[in-house]
Amino acid sequence: MSSKGPLACPRCAKTYPLDERFCPECGMPLTYAGRGEQEPITDAQERARKIKPQYTDGELVRVAGGRNQAEAELIQGMLLEEGIPSILRRTRGFDVPDFLAAGPRDVMVPEAGYEPARRLLLDAEMGPEESAGEDGIPGIGSPARLLTWVLVGLAGAAVLVWLLYQATA
Ligand SMILES: [Zn+2]
Repeated sequence: MSSKGPLACPRCAKTYPLDERFCPECGMPLTYAGRGEQEPITDAQERARKIKPQYTDGELVRVAGGRNQAEAELIQGMLLEEGIPSILRRTRGFDVPDFLAAGPRDVMVPEAGYEPARRLLLDAEMGPEESAGEDGIPGIGSPARLLTWVLVGLAGAAVLVWLLYQATA
């Protein structure tokens, strides 16, 4: 007992002194050993144990933006599933009172997590560049629009046939 440190690895169950932040064996963030199994794991601990240490280095850089707090939190959750830690910042130039959930947010990640985060979000079509025109007119590729053009084409052909018929009759 005396050789044990106050921190424990949640995966290996080995204990370490306070100067370790991550398990040297498996890289899991260390938690306080004294807490015991009965103690419920908090959301913060649950998040901490998902974070991969290789994504925690470097300055914070903006990887994506949410149009509001909820959207930014959605992005944050997706990143966390991949082990990438992130924080949210109110986008500059949009000064609204803090208690309002409105207003765009920047999603910031450590430099080490930027590339994987960017790839993940591109796969999910959520940034870094927001796709334009999502509220715009649907393109010709949308089924309803395509059907309209087909019908217009058929109507035009029918008129042409009728005109030709009139001309030759
Ligand atoms: Zn471990």
